[in-house]
Amino acid sequence: MVTPLVPGTAHPAPRTPPRDAALSVWPASAVPLADGDLAVGGVPLTELADRFGTPVYLLDEAEVRARCRAYREAFPGAAVLYAAKAFLCRAMAHWAEEEGLGLDVCSAGELELAVTTGFPPEHIVLHGNAKSPYDLQAALRLGVGRIVIDSPSEIARLAVAVPEGSRQKVMVRVAPGIAAGGHAKVRTGTDDQKFGLSLTDGSAHHAIARILDQPRLELAGPHCHLGSQITSAKPYLAAVRRMVGLLARVRDQHGVTLPELDLGGGHGIAYRPGEPALDIAALGPRLRAELADSCAAAGLPVPRLIIEPGRAVVGPAGVALYRVLAVKRTGHRTFVAVDGGMSDNPRPALYGVRYAPRLVGRAGAAPLAPATVAGRHCEAGDVLAGETELPGDIRPGDLLAVPVAGAYHLSMASGYNLVGRPPVVAVADGRARLLIRRESLDDIRRRDVGL
Ligand SMILES: *Cc1c(COP(=O)(O)O)cnc(C)c1O
Repeated sequence: MVTPLVPGTAHPAPRTPPRDAALSVWPASAVPLADGDLAVGGVPLTELADRFGTPVYLLDEAEVRARCRAYREAFPGAAVLYAAKAFLCRAMAHWAEEEGLGLDVCSAGELELAVTTGFPPEHIVLHGNAKSPYDLQAALRLGVGRIVIDSPSEIARLAVAVPEGSRQKVMVRVAPGIAAGGHAKVRTGTDDQKFGLSLTDGSAHHAIARILDQPRLELAGPHCHLGSQITSAKPYLAAVRRMVGLLARVRDQHGVTLPELDLGGGHGIAYRPGEPALDIAALGPRLRAELADSCAAAGLPVPRLIIEPGRAVVGPAGVALYRVLAVKRTGHRTFVAVDGGMSDNPRPALYGVRYAPRLVGRAGAAPLAPATVAGRHCEAGDVLAGETELPGDIRPGDLLAVPVAGAYHLSMASGYNLVGRPPVVAVADGRARLLIRRESLDDIRRRDVGL
């Protein structure tokens, strides 16, 4: 479907190997400078903090683009859709489009932002376990490429909304009964969660029969998304086998050969040095081989593969910069409180994930000592990095940089304590440019219209 793919034309950008192991999770452009500073995209982090204030998020444009290209290389012939919920702004949509990716969106908001910035709607897939009438109307009005049906009630509701004389391409989200993913809150391939229609209890088959009965809906194929932070290829290979089984059953029962198979995203990345990550370059060929074998065994033509990576495209390209505001040394812990927290990164509080922050911009720091980096919010659970290590003389005024901050931070940001959401700055070729400005008290006040 969707993306115009020209296999063999994409080349990964030249990558400088990281100078030390601690930088292995940083963008490839990260280079230590004198005086403890660090440059990303050719821009010193201290300069970014001075120019834009803290907290501030930066995105390494070359890293995002290189990751898009790596996907195109690992999955030639497949459609690669960037999962916009990981992080979306107009620049991000442009980068994805320029690198030949489509888009996976979950709301009218994400959809409209992308389309109004020029993203071709036919290369966009709309998801959602509970799409509002507004979401569906926006999708039909803007001409979205695929709508992924996630519940039985959606079938008739969508069919009547499609204008007479036209057809809407749809997919059907299946829960294939595979448990995978880094945390219970991000496992979406099993039967005991809210996403998809079960393969094991027959609801997926039932929904497919009903979709095939709707003349205004054109079923392109099944979709599954197993979960997030998956670091092994095995669950994906198992998903291929089950999904091909479903395609064979659809052919046997309905005489229909579905042309597409969407395997979702969930590709895991390392947040701290030494953590495992899913090897995308290896996953592509293994998935392709499994798909070819399974289809051959079932006597099916190989469907067009679709994948939807979010985190692995943008996560490692982002860095969050905070200023230390307070340091407390209790019995056996040092609490380092910074000027951001769960309002710009709720992931530690939600999933208990851990990060490896780094002091930047001060030379001659003391040896590393155990520390907990806490946020500024009024919750004891507002911890950005528990059980990490920072120089023993860490003090107010120091600058802390948190790598792997590009995915599911700002897209999940909240207005807690009315601190305002941080700005986003793109760095590339030694230049920094503002993509999203800091949310001001004025922005917040403007929405507050009653008394
Ligand atoms: C969240 C999501 C993705 C992307 O997940 P990542 O872990 O960011 O790769 C892809 N597809 C669907 C349907 C999703 O819900």
